[in-house]
Amino acid sequence: MTIAQSCESCGMPIETGRYCSYCTDESGALQSFEVRFERMVGWQARRHPSASRQEIERQTLDYMATMPAWRDHPRVTASRTSPES
Ligand SMILES: [Zn+2]
Repeated sequence: MTIAQSCESCGMPIETGRYCSYCTDESGALQSFEVRFERMVGWQARRHPSASRQEIERQTLDYMATMPAWRDHPRVTASRTSPES
């Protein structure tokens, strides 16, 4: 049985492993939060050209809060209004 997998960092469908090739460096290690955050802000900004940088960052943090790779990151947890129990 094959279970469809998705990247634990960005949610993109992948065939194997935990992360897609966009989220890892040449050695296969997950990139840093700062690198991924900037990249995702860039994607989000292209999808919503009229949104402000603040809105874009807000949406990006909300999205990263759903990703196993980032949901416990201090920058992501600090952005939440209600703590998870
Ligand atoms: Zn990814």
